[in-house]
Amino acid sequence: MENLLGEAADLLKKSKNIVLFTGAGMSQESGIPTFRDKDGLWNRYAPEQFGTVDSLKATALKTPEKVLSFIEENVNVFLKATPNAGHLAIANLAKNGHEVTVLTQNIDDLHERAGSAVVHKLHGDLFTFRCSKCGAIANDMSNYLTELKDKIAAVKEKGQALCAADLVSFLPKCSCGALMRPDVVLFGESLPELPWNAAREALVRAHCLVVVGTSAEVYPASTLPKLAFQMEVPIIEINPRPVLKHNAVTIAMRAAEAFTKLASKMGM
Ligand SMILES: [Zn+2]
Repeated sequence: MENLLGEAADLLKKSKNIVLFTGAGMSQESGIPTFRDKDGLWNRYAPEQFGTVDSLKATALKTPEKVLSFIEENVNVFLKATPNAGHLAIANLAKNGHEVTVLTQNIDDLHERAGSAVVHKLHGDLFTFRCSKCGAIANDMSNYLTELKDKIAAVKEKGQALCAADLVSFLPKCSCGALMRPDVVLFGESLPELPWNAAREALVRAHCLVVVGTSAEVYPASTLPKLAFQMEVPIIEINPRPVLKHNAVTIAMRAAEAFTKLASKMGM
């Protein structure tokens, strides 16, 4: 393992332009459980009931308290999360003279909060809202979860039976009058084009790709390491259970631990 860490540190050091591709494993040590694990969100809240706008509406009409607990659980998780040593080390690469582009499957804002300036959100952004009618975007929503926590408390304090309208009141309104929703990719929705184009463009300029905490096995995530491999961009994989079949420098560790060790080897 020491050899592999050394090899990865050397590769990072000599790479002017570094692209990172991060997934759920990146934020796990920040307290955001992976969605699909044993205790993951989608195991406790069936996607058929909570994973699409239509199914959420139907569940809210039938059992609004279940949707409230789904929302409340998410609000608490994302409010509590703070960047971990891995997020900080990635942001630090840019301060040490590297050009750093982060491509992430995560919808949280931990890379940004750690100080990374270039972050492309491949599955959308929990802190950006999109109008369901005119498509207008509101991206200054960083206080949204704090406000939502208060709204949830107020609804609970009312002591009346919860109804779907209470839940609808949680959503911000667009200037056109329609409701806005978090700009994240739900089940069956297409992926946003711009960040994926940016991801491919970043790989063309990359001297090294670091895949962190994502299995990257399933299309379309799998296309990024594949593309790097085809362009002969060296790959480092950081995953407790590595999965990449392309010849990568493999570090079988969780993200925060691996980056702490790499940063120290790089003298950062
Ligand atoms: Zn609108």
